[in-house]
Amino acid sequence: MARLAWLGLGAMGTPMASLLIEAGHDVTVWNRSRAKGEAFEGRATIAGTPADAARGADATITMLATPDAVDEVVFGTEGARAGLDGSGTLIDMSTVGQDYVKQLRSRLPEGVELVDAPVLGSVSNAKDGSLKLFIGGTEEAFERWSRVLEPIGKPMHMGPLGSGQAMKLVGNSALAGLMSLTGETLALADALGLAQDNAIAGLLESPLGPAMKRKIDKIESNNYTPSFKLELMLKDMRLVDEHATKRNVDLKLIPDAKDWIERAYERGYGGYDYSSVVAAIRGREATG
Ligand code: NAP
Repeated sequence: MARLAWLGLGAMGTPMASLLIEAGHDVTVWNRSRAKGEAFEGRATIAGTPADAARGADATITMLATPDAVDEVVFGTEGARAGLDGSGTLIDMSTVGQDYVKQLRSRLPEGVELVDAPVLGSVSNAKDGSLKLFIGGTEEAFERWSRVLEPIGKPMHMGPLGSGQAMKLVGNSALAGLMSLTGETLALADALGLAQDNAIAGLLESPLGPAMKRKIDKIESNNYTPSFKLELMLKDMRLVDEHATKRNVDLKLIPDAKDWIERAYERGYGGYDYSSVVAAIRGREATG
């Protein structure tokens, strides 16, 4: 069993860390707001700083909101880097983009192994251990750490460092695109005078059906209680935009999906589930 430091106990981090504890790993947790760490009392060691958590750990795992958050937790005062002490392993599971991971590599001592392992799936998958883990790193790193991470979900080796993040941006482009298409097709149905129930029943039979099905309760009720916050999807789509622009990829649909997510954010839906983009496109007031 491994000695692990877990940094970031948000909607995803809390159930993921819990699964590693249940699997028998020796876990030390840390979170910026202390209450979420204290909820682990009796199950894990609670560290006062990221550096304390990382000290002596076989692997330090970050599951944080944004690249800025990872920067603060790793390189800030009493950040994880101080505890890594020039060795050990840092596994970043946050969605931060390929370019950030490469930058992270260049700022860590050579003796520190870095693995990127962002996840596909939502809070329910994080609770029942059915996430997909997109892993970037060497073959040996994949072999070693996938065994440790298996309780969280299915590890998939995507290639060298940064490949996990690359796959994550590709996957979220598909999610944002399909949800925007759901919004546009329903907006068209509204304009053509179709009753919502009938439009949804028809679309569930179309190729959009599987994408819509997972969010159907939210779309029908207009209540978008978050499992994946729209503000996080906006962060991801901005990362997609930056990565694609730098690489001169000619995209049309994905930037449009990003624009819809921006518009939903401007309507105040940042704290709602990302599927509230459907309500924004239809011009409906959502709750969350
Ligand atoms: P979340 O519930 O908003 O939690 C974010 C975590 O980051 C919290 O622990 C938060 O600490 C911490 N944090 C934010 N800014 C920080 C800072 N400046 N310094 C230190 N800590 C900071 O987010 P989540 O849903 O767990 O998502 C975590 C990551 O997984 C994100 O990159 C997201 O894009 C990705 N992801 C999410 C889902 C999903 O369905 N939710 C699915 C796949 C991937 P506090 O508790 O103190 O605020």
